[in-house]
Amino acid sequence: MLSFNDTAIAFSGKTDNDLRRSYWLFKLVGNSNLVKIGQKLTTFAINTHLPIRSFIKATIFRQFCGGENITECLKTIEALGKYNVGSILDYSVEGKAEESVFDQTAQEIIETLDLAKQNKHIPFAVFKPTGLGDINLMEKVTANAKLSTEEQKAWERVIARFDSICSKAHDIKVKLLIDAEESWIQNAVDGLAQNMMAKYNKEQCIVFNTAQMYRNDRLIYLENALNDAKEKKYYFGVKVVRGAYMEKERARATKMGYASPINNTKTETDAEYNAALEFCIKNIEFVSLCAGTHNEDSAMLLVKLLKQNNIPVNHPHVWFSQLLGMSDHISFNIANAGYNVAKYVPYGPVRDVLPYLIRRAMENTSVKGQTGRELSLIIKEKQRRAASKN
Ligand SMILES: Cc1cc2nc3c(=O)[nH]c(=O)nc-3n(C[C@H](O)[C@H](O)[C@H](O)COP(=O)(O)OP(=O)(O)OC[C@H]3O[C@@H](n4cnc5c(N)ncnc54)[C@H](O)[C@@H]3O)c2cc1C
Repeated sequence: MLSFNDTAIAFSGKTDNDLRRSYWLFKLVGNSNLVKIGQKLTTFAINTHLPIRSFIKATIFRQFCGGENITECLKTIEALGKYNVGSILDYSVEGKAEESVFDQTAQEIIETLDLAKQNKHIPFAVFKPTGLGDINLMEKVTANAKLSTEEQKAWERVIARFDSICSKAHDIKVKLLIDAEESWIQNAVDGLAQNMMAKYNKEQCIVFNTAQMYRNDRLIYLENALNDAKEKKYYFGVKVVRGAYMEKERARATKMGYASPINNTKTETDAEYNAALEFCIKNIEFVSLCAGTHNEDSAMLLVKLLKQNNIPVNHPHVWFSQLLGMSDHISFNIANAGYNVAKYVPYGPVRDVLPYLIRRAMENTSVKGQTGRELSLIIKEKQRRAASKN
């Protein structure tokens, strides 16, 4: 019987030293004041070139990132692969908005595709749309605003970057996830993703868009996207997540005076997330699903849905996914039971992945001093190991 409480399996890839390091890290990031001060100090130190790179690399970076470049990630990929947990190399450099950087990022994604082709432990590649084009331009396209001649040319370059990556993925038959970002750029991304799926998902599912179920219109999006796929005869690939930009979404809606696109409550988001899983499983013939979640109930629901519908645990259309350094109790237990699992393995130069690391630290900050989920699992495993040595 599958359980997420088996910490022996969850941390099978971790030595006692690894566990001790993770324990101290989650203990420190559990303190919200420390995280706030740490965030300011780290950004200041990096910007003023104070020598703290090695410290960050040995601590929080080591927990949540695979390395500074693809080669440095190979050890992590092998270590996960040993337990049948796949890796998804996630180039996590954020906040750069120059054409030359967009071209370099597209090239970097193509290199991750090449590695995925050769390495059986890498089932997907992934990219973030704003890595390939200017966010303000995507906002204008989403709003159907008129583009200047220069903007039109820049947009065509964005389309070309999407196409070069998706066509490469198609040629070498490597699955490719397109991340979702803020709602005010998402129509532009959805449109591009749909065109790429229509072009490259004819024989099998290669390109996956992402649906953020904290949005109150995503169940309708799923239905429309599936109808389009059926009509034009291509497979619909979708990564289903809850969504990472809730505060930002709500703040913008309030500031600009429009109705927030985000569900009012967590309960609503949970219900819509689970409904999305049910929708995908019901249509598994046409849909490929990647469930990106750290929520145990949702992961367990997907397990149950497969069982109820007599779908093999390793059906090629169904994947579970978590982030490196988080929720190993889900990833490793699910992989051990034979399901398809892959973890995002973020990578990039330390200073460029800082925004990503700060988000992970904030996510693991405890509410009202409670011990966070990750920390309590580590404590449980430390105790289990200590008892087994006695
Ligand atoms: C493999 C993977 C890929 C991901 N890719 C993306 C991506 O492309 N785009 C993206 O935006 N995010 C992405 N995420 C992050 C994801 O959207 C969530 O922020 C994160 O996983 C936490 O949600 P959860 O399902 O793990 O579980 P939980 O911890 O149960 O849910 C937390 C989430 O619930 C929602 N929520 C919380 N409070 C409320 C509230 N009051 N009202 C309404 N909703 C609420 C928010 O979305 C919040 O993040 C990804 C996550 C994973 C694991």
